[in-house]
Amino acid sequence: MRLVDLQQIGNELALKWDDGSEDFITLEKLRRECPCAGCRGEMDVMGNLYKGPEQTLTPLAFQLRQIARVGTYGIQPHWGDGHNTGIYSFDYLRKIAK
Ligand SMILES: [Zn+2]
Repeated sequence: MRLVDLQQIGNELALKWDDGSEDFITLEKLRRECPCAGCRGEMDVMGNLYKGPEQTLTPLAFQLRQIARVGTYGIQPHWGDGHNTGIYSFDYLRKIAK
């Protein structure tokens, strides 16, 4: 599955796929599903989950500054609060859009 186009429409991100389907994800949901280690935690080899301190998300955290394309497999949003370490693969985007 390839992303053909993405556009911010109001507070949603519209994703258009190469099979002609479209998905819409609100920016708030997108940010809350951030897959980076800082937001999601990191698993060590023993299966222990390490998470950073709980983040308090401000309204800025749900504002999109820009989105960078990452290779041919994902996107990297830059948020209003400076957070930009989350890389969302197309598969992951499809999953959270459902
Ligand atoms: Zn994150």
